[in-house]
Amino acid sequence: MALIVQKYGGTSVGSPERIKNVARRVAQWCARGHQLIVVVSAMAGETNRLIALAKDVQSEPDPRELDVMVSTGEQVTIALLAMALMEQGIKARSYTGAQVKIVTDNAHTKARIISIDEKNIRADLDKGCVVVVAGFQGVTDAGEITTLGRGGSDTTGVALAAALKATECQIYTDVDGVYTADPRIVPDARRLKTITFEEMLELASLGSKVLQIRSVEFAGKYKVRLRVLSSFEDHGEGTLITFEESEKMEEPVISGIASNRDEAKITILGVPDRPGIAYQILGPIGDANIDVDMIVQNVGHDGLTDFSFTVNRNDFKKALEVLQLVRNHIKAREIVSGDKIAKVSIVGVGMRSHAGIASAAFRALAEEGINIQMISTSEIKVSVVIDEKYTELAVRVLHKCFNLDQPA
Ligand code: ASP
Ligand code: MG
Repeated sequence: MALIVQKYGGTSVGSPERIKNVARRVAQWCARGHQLIVVVSAMAGETNRLIALAKDVQSEPDPRELDVMVSTGEQVTIALLAMALMEQGIKARSYTGAQVKIVTDNAHTKARIISIDEKNIRADLDKGCVVVVAGFQGVTDAGEITTLGRGGSDTTGVALAAALKATECQIYTDVDGVYTADPRIVPDARRLKTITFEEMLELASLGSKVLQIRSVEFAGKYKVRLRVLSSFEDHGEGTLITFEESEKMEEPVISGIASNRDEAKITILGVPDRPGIAYQILGPIGDANIDVDMIVQNVGHDGLTDFSFTVNRNDFKKALEVLQLVRNHIKAREIVSGDKIAKVSIVGVGMRSHAGIASAAFRALAEEGINIQMISTSEIKVSVVIDEKYTELAVRVLHKCFNLDQPA
């Protein structure tokens, strides 16, 4: 007998029929003698609907009130799933985050989990009950309802699996696993049977929307065995996120290609080349709570240099405002910027032991006439910034370059 945590996303519980399907699947796992904790998201579109409703009433919704409101989405689905399970003759009981006591900090709309009280859940499991828990929500010490950020139900699932030392956390979603590239861009992208935790972390931070990045961090920290599966397929094995590189059955150099258009690029030209200049530019950006991703500073000449970096597009305008002041202060020549860029990345732990990966990628892009504007690397990743209009082409070219379309 194993303890399994299953998490079902919004599309998987998007209608009464689909909720009944989830109940049938849970019933099959129970029939095999397993204990089940099931975490659910709100029905598809519901969280967006609630946020829009709030914005109709208050232009910048109050974070505390917003959390009180959006947490209701999940409260509906837990009760419905518990009812559907009872219809299947299964003992079930639903819990909101506050009822479990998933304690978070008080950062409304993006709270972090601090602790989970497993007492009630354990007692129910021992009575042969399926425990259904609302994803995405928690409660502060003071009893305030909080939410964990968009996509936060993944994190609820992984956190429960960690707290209760579950055998496996299964994330059921509308795709059947993690792919070598977005199948909408690369039709012959393949599902990966396994991916390492580090690769998954890179992919999640690079814009692959399969898992909320915090859930991957959590899985890494607590060594939770995590699997992504389709809720619409009955026998798929999905993608297993592993911790040992040797556990990886297929060992390609590159595991996947990611792309996103979430960033904008800012360059300050003619910056005086002297100590402290990077700090003078990026300090105020950080103070304005703007995250910086890639940073490039050129070799100086004639006492001047150029300094470029990227920020999230949502922060682009704010960053430019901050920089106008900085520019006058440090007496830089000019600011040029643009948001028509894309970041395309190749990810793979195999890079560690293979030379020439980056240059192979650069050659492949050059052969298609794609200009690289910025480059950044880590041990297991190479990212390039290119003109947005070449995003799909770049992903396809790189996918082909590393033979990711070939069965491993
Ligand atoms: N319902 C929340 C959202 O849409 C949480 C989740 O689905 O994971 O972001
Ligand atoms: Mg999700």
